[in-house]
Order: sequence, then structure tokens, then C-alpha cells
Amino acid sequence: MPVEFIADLHIHTCLSPCAELSMTPKGIVEKAASLGINIIAVCDHNSMENVEVTRDVAKGKGICVIAGMEINSAEEVHILGLFGDSDAARRMQEIVYLNLQPGENDEDAIGMQVIVNADDEVLGFNRRLLIGATGLSVNRIVELVHDLNGIAVASHIDRDVFGIIGQLGFIDPGICFDALEISCRKTADEARALYGEYGHIPWISSSDAHQVDEIGRRTSRFLLHHATFDEICLALKDAGRERVYF
Ligand SMILES: [Zn+2]
Ligand SMILES: [Zn+2]
Repeated sequence: MPVEFIADLHIHTCLSPCAELSMTPKGIVEKAASLGINIIAVCDHNSMENVEVTRDVAKGKGICVIAGMEINSAEEVHILGLFGDSDAARRMQEIVYLNLQPGENDEDAIGMQVIVNADDEVLGFNRRLLIGATGLSVNRIVELVHDLNGIAVASHIDRDVFGIIGQLGFIDPGICFDALEISCRKTADEARALYGEYGHIPWISSSDAHQVDEIGRRTSRFLLHHATFDEICLALKDAGRERVYF
């Protein structure tokens, strides 16, 4: 029998320049554990360089860490790519890095992009323009994520800025999103009233946490046999049977 698992599938670390420096792997895992969250996805802007360390920190703590990335498309639409393993996420990162805008991150204006180890020690700083748009279209990003056996989620579709509806006006039915994410700003009822036309695509909701006290402010519930990426994929495919809700 499947049981209910609590997932927060959109969490930024201190690698995202807009996230607080307290968003270290240790800080994130401790907070998630204290809230009883079973599954988290680390989704920094256009990078996965703090994913593996978060996995290491979570080992033995009963939390599944999914390798993810929040990719910014050429249209300035945010898309979560979630992957079954770090190698796939790293391959996506290689493609994203090749398609980032040239130039360096301005730490004073935008914020630091910190790569850390499992003891919260600074290993280095990512100098790329991680916050900027890539040259990859929404369609291409979804294709690339699928080529790597990942799942593609349209981030915070209810946000005017960086949400697909706010940026493009609608969700092209030809783009095969595996899920749409509703932000914590809308309840499930409000989302149903606004976005009912997209009800054929599974919906999730997540915290999009940029600081520790935002972790778990919104979660999704999945009915799964085990807390694994593969089971989440199956549950999303099976969403007609109501295995995903928030
Ligand atoms: Zn976003
Ligand atoms: Zn985000």
C-alpha cells in the first residue's frame, strides 16, 4: 500500500545569489527534518553545484534529496528540472552553462553564489551569471530534461514574473510539462478557479524557499511506496488517481 510522503521540491541554497547565506546544506536538511519533510529537491538558479553535498548531509537522516535546478529560459520563464541522479543533473548543467549569458555575477548588486562543503565551509564562489536567462527556449529545456530522463515542472505558474503564464500568456499544449507548480501565494482552491484549464497536467506546490524559515511553508503530498525519484515520476504519471496533492 502506498503511504503519504511530504515533499518540498523547490529549495534554493546559498548558491543562488538571491538566497540567504544561511541556506547551507546542513541548515536546509536540519530544518526539513524538523518539519517531518521526507523528500526535498535542491533547485538553484541554473546550477546544481550544491546538490551532492546536500545529499551527503542528508544521508542517514531519512530525507531523500532530489537533484534539481531552476532553469531560466530565453523567455525568462523558470522551469524546474528534476533528475534521478546527479550525473544527469550535471549533464544538464553543462548545457545550461554553455547557454548562459556571458559576464560575471556582480556580488555586490546581486548576491554571492557560494559553493559549500558538508561542514558549511566555503569551497568557492560561482562567478557565472546564474540569475540571468539562458539562450534555451522553454520547449528546448523541457526536451533536454526529458532526454536526461528528468521531469520538467513549470515553476510558480501563478507568479507574474518568471511564471510561464505571466511571461507568455498561456501554456502551449505542445510543451509536455510533467507538472505545474503553484506557489505558496495561492491555495489549491484559488489555483483551481484560476487555472482549471490546465487541470489535465498534475499540479504540485512547493516552498521556493530562499531562507530557512521558508522551507516547508508549502509542500506537496505524494502517495508512494518509497521516497524515491522514480516513485515520484510514477505518481505524476498516475496523477489521475490522485497520488499527488497539496
Ligand atoms: Zn523561480
Ligand atoms: Zn525558485
